[in-house]
Amino acid sequence: MTISINLKRIIDDSYPLHIGPLPEINFEGKVAILTNPKVAGLHLQTLLASLKAKEVYIITIPDGEQYKTLATIESVLDRMFDHRLNRKSLLIAFGGGVIGDMGGFSASLYNRGIDFIQIPTTLLSQVDASVGGKTGVNNRFGKNLIGAFHQPRAVYIDPSFLHTLPSREFGAGVAEIVKMAVTFNAPFFEWLEENDLRDGDNLQYAIAKAVETKAGVVEEDEKEQGLRAALNYGHTFGHVIENETKYETYLHGESVAIGIVMANELACEVGLMSRAEAERVKALLGRYGLPLTYPISDVERFYQTFFLDKKSADSAITFILPRGIGAVEITDTIEEGTVKKVLATFKGIGA
Ligand code: NAD
Repeated sequence: MTISINLKRIIDDSYPLHIGPLPEINFEGKVAILTNPKVAGLHLQTLLASLKAKEVYIITIPDGEQYKTLATIESVLDRMFDHRLNRKSLLIAFGGGVIGDMGGFSASLYNRGIDFIQIPTTLLSQVDASVGGKTGVNNRFGKNLIGAFHQPRAVYIDPSFLHTLPSREFGAGVAEIVKMAVTFNAPFFEWLEENDLRDGDNLQYAIAKAVETKAGVVEEDEKEQGLRAALNYGHTFGHVIENETKYETYLHGESVAIGIVMANELACEVGLMSRAEAERVKALLGRYGLPLTYPISDVERFYQTFFLDKKSADSAITFILPRGIGAVEITDTIEEGTVKKVLATFKGIGA
């Protein structure tokens, strides 16, 4: 006998992405704010001044990607139980992408899922990590391999938090902005060439454009069945660089910048991008102090490390290659020899 369980449903997970000064946040129930000591020291008072809730608890976890683990999630959940949060409570993730990914994941797990709000405080998290509901942690097999899709109820993106951001972290965020422009929006790329993001108004405009681009992609393909993978442009190469340098040499966005340069070289090699276009992208990244090359010491080893990427799990490597500026192609048919030829051009080139 077969009994069917009919769970067809229509879910509306729409939410606002508010860009501008942090608005007043009113909440009737209990609120837990997840943050780290650095962000709390710099900006918690600003958040608390805007927050009106029945009870507010602060949960801090150590700062750093190395703490993005299940062990940390367990400690966050313990604190949420200590504070007797319930199904109607709210979690606010207040920090960079590490806090956002872990706050969202904790919210997805607590009582089988409670609401959460993202208040991102790095450029990278404002333009990318806070949008789209990917949450999770790393383990010894790799980055972001454990997690859940759990959309926030709202994202509050206040560029004024970025005043305290170190310049390397700023550059890392710019790399993700450039990524969105090259893959999806040629006019935005041209605008980026003409305008300096160190100017406040320009920055706010660029954040809005990048967020709009990401939101459009997520609307089309929330669970990364196709188009959303295009946002990994630069990441296929970048992950190998992070792996080889043990996450110590480059910030994530910096390895993405080098990865973008490498992906462009491959795109030039297979005729998808012109050399002039590749140089324009390089020049734009270079303006924000981003690294543009990486000395590959062993081409074969670099190539084999591609296979650790979860998008290349089944033997063929998936490359996200720009088609000129403003369009993108997801392909797993690039010949091994072609890839290695391009990698060899980076052999021994100083960073
Ligand atoms: P991060 O969260 O580690 O923040 C970088 C550093 O800046 C930290 O030391 C942090 O404490 C500090 N910081 C945060 N706000 C600050 C401020 N206003 N002033 C001064 N310092 C501040 O790193 P990140 O670059 O924001 O995010 C990287 C993480 O995001 C990675 O774990 C990555 O996997 C994840 N990510 C997730 C998605 C997604 O879709 N979920 C997308 C991209 C990246």
